[in-house]
Amino acid sequence: MFRLSAEVSHEWERRTTLRDYHAGHIPKEELCDADFLLKAAAEHHGTDSARPCPICEGVMQDVLWIYGDNLGRRSGTARSEAEIDEITGQVGPITVHRVEVCRRCGWNHLLTEARAEPVPD
Ligand SMILES: [Zn+2]
Repeated sequence: MFRLSAEVSHEWERRTTLRDYHAGHIPKEELCDADFLLKAAAEHHGTDSARPCPICEGVMQDVLWIYGDNLGRRSGTARSEAEIDEITGQVGPITVHRVEVCRRCGWNHLLTEARAEPVPD
């Protein structure tokens, strides 16, 4: 098991970005720029988001990306919660970014950054 702490939410930026988009200040291509790797990560490691895509109303996935000096080459990779369990058990606390991705239109946004640390069984 791991627990998340020191969570930083980017919900405010998300709302601001969407407001600017709906006001016509940001082109869709700028927001919907998920590349092949991000879409593949959503397909293989993502879990369905509770929210529909804010641009096309399609089903989105939330993808967890892990970062940390203690991760070596695994830093900057997408992982399932089960893998994060295992990895924090091995190396200790890491940083986890939750990113929502729409594979239909390419919308993607960083939702939260948090510290994941192992919880003893
Ligand atoms: Zn979409």
